[in-house]
Formats: sequence, structure tokens, C-alpha cells
Amino acid sequence: MSTPAANATEYDVVIVGAGVSGAMIAKQLGLAGKKVLILEAGARIPVNTNDFMERFYKAVAKVPEVPYTPEVFTPSGSLTLTDPATLNAGRPNTMTLSETTWKDPKVAYMDQQGTLPFSSTYERIAGGTMRHWLGTSLRNVPNDFRMYSAYKKFVDWPLSYDDIEPWYEKAEWEIGVSADKSTQNYLGITFPPDYQYPMKPIPPSLVDDAVTKAVTGKSFDGIPLVVTETPAGRNSQPYQNRRVCAGNTNCIPICPIQAKYDPSVTLNMALDTGNVTLMVQTVASEIVLDSNGLVSQINYIQYEDNLGPATGKGSVTAKRYVLAAHAVETPKLCLMSKNNGRTPKGVANSSGLMGQNLMDHPLYLAWAQAAEPVFGFRGPLATSGIESMRDGDFRKERAAFRIEIGNEGWNFSIGDPWTTTLDFINGWNNSQLNPKPPSTSAPQALWGPDLVNALNDGFSRQFRLGFLVEQSPETSNYVTLSTTEFDHLGLPRPQIVYDLSDYTKAGFVAAKKTADAIFDMMGATQFTTEPDASDPTAFEVDIDGKTQRLKFFGAGHIVGTYRMGDKPTNSVVDADQRSWDHKNLFLVGSGNFPTVATANPTLTIAALALKAAKTLLDDLG
Ligand SMILES: Cc1cc2nc3c(=O)[nH]c(=O)nc-3n(C[C@H](O)[C@H](O)[C@H](O)COP(=O)(O)OP(=O)(O)OC[C@H]3O[C@@H](n4cnc5c(N)ncnc54)[C@H](O)[C@@H]3O)c2cc1C
Ligand code: SF4
Repeated sequence: MSTPAANATEYDVVIVGAGVSGAMIAKQLGLAGKKVLILEAGARIPVNTNDFMERFYKAVAKVPEVPYTPEVFTPSGSLTLTDPATLNAGRPNTMTLSETTWKDPKVAYMDQQGTLPFSSTYERIAGGTMRHWLGTSLRNVPNDFRMYSAYKKFVDWPLSYDDIEPWYEKAEWEIGVSADKSTQNYLGITFPPDYQYPMKPIPPSLVDDAVTKAVTGKSFDGIPLVVTETPAGRNSQPYQNRRVCAGNTNCIPICPIQAKYDPSVTLNMALDTGNVTLMVQTVASEIVLDSNGLVSQINYIQYEDNLGPATGKGSVTAKRYVLAAHAVETPKLCLMSKNNGRTPKGVANSSGLMGQNLMDHPLYLAWAQAAEPVFGFRGPLATSGIESMRDGDFRKERAAFRIEIGNEGWNFSIGDPWTTTLDFINGWNNSQLNPKPPSTSAPQALWGPDLVNALNDGFSRQFRLGFLVEQSPETSNYVTLSTTEFDHLGLPRPQIVYDLSDYTKAGFVAAKKTADAIFDMMGATQFTTEPDASDPTAFEVDIDGKTQRLKFFGAGHIVGTYRMGDKPTNSVVDADQRSWDHKNLFLVGSGNFPTVATANPTLTIAALALKAAKTLLDDLG
């Protein structure tokens, strides 16, 4: 148990959450000599990554959450999902998105009450959700910040691309991004002439080369198809005492050699300043206000074992407070903070918007076999994408998207190499690669050289495309407090109401048509399956007069629940990420994005966190 040093020291700033946004702020404040305390709900980062690796190796299902605590399965090694009511700091996991589990509170942490399941997950462990991120570190395009001005859709951000540009630079150096600015200056993105990314790009894969060869010079629906290398938070050369990426395609859920950035890097630097204290296994439970409407303390509950009893309660005070608990737990904490009935709507919620406009980049997945080998299952999970479809006049009518080119064969799509291997050994055909030959009664069961040849041919030509679709902000998609489901500390679990709008679904239709066109250009054979009607993530769309079912996946990009704006009536925080209602309270992380934009969110989260750190330092003097 970490020492509750909370009351012994006078803190300048208390931060709730030790993910990327909390760690970035703590480091900047610590370097400037400010005294900082971080309350972190999850367990401490182990001294050795092998602790995480061991849990990953032994896990029966290699879902993104398994290397990390709390255990997805209890007892460890079994297939029994841990009951979230028994956990002190629970979190959602991807094992609970099936027809039978997504609404079952005995296994699903989130109390899902919407039409569709919210399908993204997050971590509650020091280092946060970025422990299992992919590393994609793109900038938003300028029009992402001005959707209303450009297209009369949704809202503008209260800051522009030019305002955030210097903070993008700082975030890229903090994370350690490998890229070349000569390839990233598309759709209005600009860089100062003397700026360089910290490291040269990660080389494109053979899958990238095959897609590039097929689409270069071609357009679809009037939009050019341009393959661009993806800026990555992974080392292409030694950086910050970490090694170069070895290219073994395990980035999600864990990079065994820490070539991929995760916030423990920044958190350790923050702790090394000597000014930052981290209290782990400490769940912030209430934000307390004084009679002037300022935050006067944050209450917390501690535990030693995530499945054990609470071991203590306490409170901390500081001059400033920062909530960095991510876009579901931050609004949950604010809504829980009722101050003995003095704030019945919770804290920072005079607008009534707290928890609303929950968004993601719901993902359309399409997979195919190339005509010639493209040798997937090598390199980081993705090294290039098609970014040219992220902006255009079409955004007046439908959602934009970026296309991620996957290097991991059909691992994401159908669970390969296992599914196809089992098919050819057992005479099954779950992969569709082992159809029944005409004169036989069943698919082939092979062995010896025939098996090896079939697998080599099958795997070497597999690839997939992932379309990250821009979701429209809707007040009808929200996080609130469950009135029926609680965690082991007695705190309400998040209740979620979620659906996809017609604007977002129209983006899916365009994504499907684009996938079909790219596979045609490549001469590839498509294997994307239509989901069953019973699949909770399936929805119907009209494609050229024909009703078809499409399916979405969560991208892990949880956005929008305490939006930033230019006045207290239309937003929760201002452009400095300061609560309109309580001047000594800041809410950082992607919850403050007014729209989901078209880049994976974390570089923007990091840039905004660094900007908030500057505001805090200015405030503190
Ligand atoms: C599978 C997957 C892949 C992803 N890949 C990418 C990618 O390639 N690129 C990208 O840009 N983004 C990616 N993301 C998203 C990225 O991980 C998140 O945007 C990022 O981690 C959010 O950072 P954060 O600091 O706001 O929140 P988090 O990292 O979630 O940190 C929040 C912290 O707060 C703590 N906390 C929560 N509640 C409390 C409480 N009550 N008291 C105290 N502490 C609390 C949590 O334990 C946690 O440590 C991915 C996400 C997933 C799930
Ligand atoms: S490819 Fe391997 S070494 Fe490179 S970042 Fe991913 S997991 Fe780490």
C-alpha cells in the first residue's frame, strides 16, 4: 500500500488518474518544482514488464485487457469472467460484448441500457488505457476543429489547429513519435519549417506496398486514395532509454520490449523530479465544494487487494485539482459528487451536459486475400493508412473516416492463425478458406506437406482494412450513474446509453463501398462476412436499395463526455480545460473533445494536457 502522505504535505495540485493525461501534467508541474499528488485507482506499475507478460502468456483469451489487473478471469487461468461487483476498481473488457454478456451485470462492468453496446474498453491501472494502445499518433486535420464553420455540422472547438500546433510538437517529443513531416502535411496540416519529428518513420510493410501499388493515382467517389505512413509512438531508433521496435506484431495488448511508448515512461520521469507523489489503489470518490463553489478537497477510498475489502478512507487538499480519469470515469466521479445534496446534478454540471455526447470511432472491418503473398503477421500492427478520406465536402452529409491497413493477417478479423489452422487440421471451415470440395461430403482435413502448403498459402495472402468512422455528437448517447449496479466499494458503476446516428451509419455505408472498391483494385478476394441478426453490434443500412447488415467494433477512442466550448451554457470546460463552474478544477483527456475528429485521440489528449499544465503553472505563479 502506498503511504497516504496526503495530509502531511501541502500540495499545489492533486491529479485524479495516472494515465497519459495525468502523467503529462504531473511531469511538467514536477519539473517546475510544484508539489503534486496523483490519486490512482489501479495498481502500481510493476518493476518488471514480465509480470504483465506472464499474465498475458497464461491467459486463455488474449483480449486487450488480459495482461493487466484486475484479472479478467477469476480464478486466474479459468474461463469464468470476474463479477464486477466484487472489484474495487473494475473496468469494461472485450469479453463482455456478446449477445449474452453485454447486458449481464454479473460480467459486464458497464450497465448498458442503449440500443447498441458501447464497445470500447479502458484500463484502471497506473499508466492507464495506453498500456494496451496501438501507438498511432496522428494530428487532427484543421477542419476537425471547425466542423460547424466548415460544414454547418455539430460545433466548432474553442481552439483552432494553429492554436494547438505548438502543443502537438511538444506531445510528439514527449511520446517519441516516428514519422516524417513531408508525408503528414495533407488536408491543411502544417508544420513550422524548422520542425522535425523525433525519429524517422517506421518502414512500410509489404501489405502497405501492395495496397499502395493498387490504389496510387486512383480515386473512389471523387476522393483520391493516397496511402500515407502512420506516425507511431514506437521507436524507430533508440529513444528515451527504450529499444527499437522489433516488429513482432504484438503491440495490442502489450509490447514485450517497451519499444512502444506507454505513460509509465512519463510517470516515472514525473516521480523522478522528487516533487510528485503517487498513491495507488486509491479511488477518488467525491469532489467536495466549499461555499464559494471552489473545490476544497477530494475524498478517496483505498484498498490493498482489488477483490478485498476497503482498507481506508481519506481526503486531500490542494490549490488546484485536475480530473484525468478518462471519458467514462471522470463524468462518473463528477456525477457522484453530490456534496450532501448541495450539488444534486453533481460537480461541474451547471450546463447539464456532464456525461453527454459520448463518442467513439466505431470501426468497420473488412478482410480479404490478396492475389499474391503480402506476408502479414510481421511488423507493428499497422504502419500505413489512407488519410485522404478524413475531410471533404461530403462531411455535410456523412461521417468521414480514416483507413488503417492492418499487418496482422486475419487476427483481428477471425482470430487467426488459430481459426484457419484448426479448420485445415479438423476439416472445418470457420475461416471460409477450407470450403468443401465438390465431390466430398466435408471440408478437407489435411496433414503433412499438404497442411503446410495450405496454411502457407492461406496466411501469406491475408490482410485487412479498418475504417475508423467519425461518430456524430448526440446528447442521447451518454454516461450516467447506474442506479442498480455498484462496485465492491459501493460506488455506482457507469450506466451507458449508446446508438449510432444516421450520419454515422452513412459513413459506414461509404466505408463498405470504399473497401469493396479497394479490394477490386487489388484483385483481392473479399471474405468480410455479414453479421448475424443476433449480433448486438449489428445494424441495418440501405446500400443501393438493398437492406444489408453491417457490424461495428469499438476503437477504444472514448470521447466527448465533458465537452470544451466557448460558453458555460454549451460546454463543461473552457479552452483551457478549466471547469466553467469551479475555477480551481480542470478536466483533461478526450472527454473534453467537442467532436470526435478523425485522428486517433491520444496525441491530441497529450497536446491538450501539456497546454493545461502551462495554464496551471501560470495560475500557480
Ligand atoms: C485497444 C485500444 C487501442 C488504442 N490505440 C490507440 C492508438 O493507437 N492511438 C490513440 O491515439 N489512441 C489509442 N487508444 C486510446 C488511448 O488508449 C486513450 O485515448 C488514452 O489512454 C486516454 O488517456 P487518459 O489519460 O485520458 O485516460 P486513461 O489512460 O484511461 O487513464 C485514466 C486513469 O485514471 C484512473 N482512474 C479512473 N477512475 C479513477 C478514480 N475514480 N480515482 C483515481 N483514478 C482513477 C485509471 O485507473 C487510469 O489510470 C486505444 C485504446 C484502446 C482500448
Ligand atoms: S511490433 Fe513488437 S516491438 Fe514493435 S511496438 Fe509492436 S509489440 Fe513492440
